[in-house]
Amino acid sequence: MGWTDERVDVLKKLWLDGLSASQIAKHLGEVTRNAVIGKVHRLGLSGRATPSQPARPAFKAPRPPRPLAPPQPFQRRAAAEHPALPPLPRPEPRVEEPGTATVLTLGAHMCKWPIGDPSTEDFTFCGRRSSDEGPYCIEHARLAYQPPQARKRSGPSELARSLRRYI
Ligand SMILES: [Zn+2]
Repeated sequence: MGWTDERVDVLKKLWLDGLSASQIAKHLGEVTRNAVIGKVHRLGLSGRATPSQPARPAFKAPRPPRPLAPPQPFQRRAAAEHPALPPLPRPEPRVEEPGTATVLTLGAHMCKWPIGDPSTEDFTFCGRRSSDEGPYCIEHARLAYQPPQARKRSGPSELARSLRRYI
């Protein structure tokens, strides 16, 4: 069925009454919503406000000024991004047992962790079997790879450490 004058009049009336295109299509029957929209455009009626759409408020209430977010310290953000990482435990102050090796007896597969003051005769090396990955036993390897501050507090003296570098 085409657009008879009668149907066009109904369309115009319903459109101006504020019905949506699909409502009009249902009312007229045998036309699709798209056909109604097309006809409305051709009739030059499309300028009306469409109440089927949620009307936008003409006046926008000014938003309250957004409070400035405090600058996030990097530390906090990093912690939020990696929540699974627990904070590193503080190393306990430790007293080293004297090692079992000296400069003379230290072998290739012995832990080269210096113990004591290298300037005294008590100075030894750990001497336990070193791990396959490095020059230290497992326990001392763990100490060796602590952050520098932690190592400074509980590790061997500065002299011992510089000495270790040459072994
Ligand atoms: Zn060791």
